[in-house]
Amino acid sequence: MSNSTNASNPKKRPYLIVGQGIAGSMLAWFLEKAGESFIIIDNSHKYAASKIAAGIINPITGRRFVKSWMIETFMPFAKNTYQEIETALDVQVWKDMDIIRFFINNAEGNNWLSKTTWEGYDKFLKTEKTADYLTDFIFDAGGYGTVNGAKVDLGKLVKAFRNHFQEKEVLRSELFEYDSLVVQEDGVKYKDILAKKVIFCEGYRSYANPWFAHLPYESAKGEVLILRIPSLKTPDIIKKHLFIVPLEDDLFWFGSNYEWDDLTDEPTQIGKADLLRQLKGILKVDYEIVHHLAAVRPVLKDRRPALGLHPNHPNIGILNGLGTKGTSLAPYWAKALVELLVTDKAIPSEVDVQRFKIA
Ligand SMILES: Cc1cc2nc3c(=O)[nH]c(=O)nc-3n(C[C@H](O)[C@H](O)[C@H](O)COP(=O)(O)OP(=O)(O)OC[C@H]3O[C@@H](n4cnc5c(N)ncnc54)[C@H](O)[C@@H]3O)c2cc1C
Repeated sequence: MSNSTNASNPKKRPYLIVGQGIAGSMLAWFLEKAGESFIIIDNSHKYAASKIAAGIINPITGRRFVKSWMIETFMPFAKNTYQEIETALDVQVWKDMDIIRFFINNAEGNNWLSKTTWEGYDKFLKTEKTADYLTDFIFDAGGYGTVNGAKVDLGKLVKAFRNHFQEKEVLRSELFEYDSLVVQEDGVKYKDILAKKVIFCEGYRSYANPWFAHLPYESAKGEVLILRIPSLKTPDIIKKHLFIVPLEDDLFWFGSNYEWDDLTDEPTQIGKADLLRQLKGILKVDYEIVHHLAAVRPVLKDRRPALGLHPNHPNIGILNGLGTKGTSLAPYWAKALVELLVTDKAIPSEVDVQRFKIA
């Protein structure tokens, strides 16, 4: 994997990507499409949120049923990108899925009904669908509504990308050590690698990165239970506070909660107890716990991604802050970052990492 032959011509050097979650994978995908070369360093997904996320794309969110930011742009772009990758890597990850949203009371149901008449909401809210069979399984306090959503198997995808990058011999499974990075005028040097630029896609671990320590991190841990629910047969995602997402066989993904103080990847007894307490108010039927998982969502204070180049070191870049919506955001913003790198197209100021000033 040595690239010493390119040492004399900086333009021919590869990009160095640190982190191969959904952000790093998408960045590599669009670099590959643009004909650029790259080397990836990832410590075998040790800290990856992407490997345990449900991968839901939910266009209508929150108590007030608000359309998610730029969803009309992100969702079709994401679908197109994931489907292209499915063909290229021979893996199936995208699924259009209805989200059955149970209301907590009748007032919420009325609010929902009024939203179905708002301009731009009609394509995401289904009014004709019934899923009454679910009330045999879910405690129903105020009816339900249906959202046109989707789910991407992010865990399967990052594994498929990992195999792809290993076959191409562009992936090193190791921890990136900041002290070994030398920033040069015409690129960067990391141990034996000479690269054009280094782009950090480290998820929540970015708080430890000396070049991006000034970002206002508000990362949030989430714990998840994988449940076996033999009697529940549904093709739909169920949402009542939390999500119940069908996987294969009788298995379901259940989660997730939010924790801001303990930013470790370890599942905890407190987290599990919290999930089980909430499940008690949601599910009427028997279940068995198969796995208990945890990871940390990379969130920034203004809830927007951060991408682009370091204000003082243009050979150092970042794609981070995908928060709770990495599935829909990663494809679009990875492409925008590649356009900056390859064609110098400006990043919108709202998501440009340079909006955060260094003190
Ligand atoms: C419980 C939970 C549920 C979620 N559900 C959803 C959902 O339904 N829909 C949705 O859109 N989003 C969801 N998310 C959010 C989603 O997971 C994230 O937005 C997304 O995965 C972030 O991707 P990333 O590539 O930025 O980071 P990550 O997936 O964390 O990837 C970062 C990678 O970098 C590696 N790394 C870090 N530092 C180093 C280093 N120094 N050296 C080498 N490697 C390093 C890590 O090991 C990891 O492989 C959920 C998150 C959690 C925790």
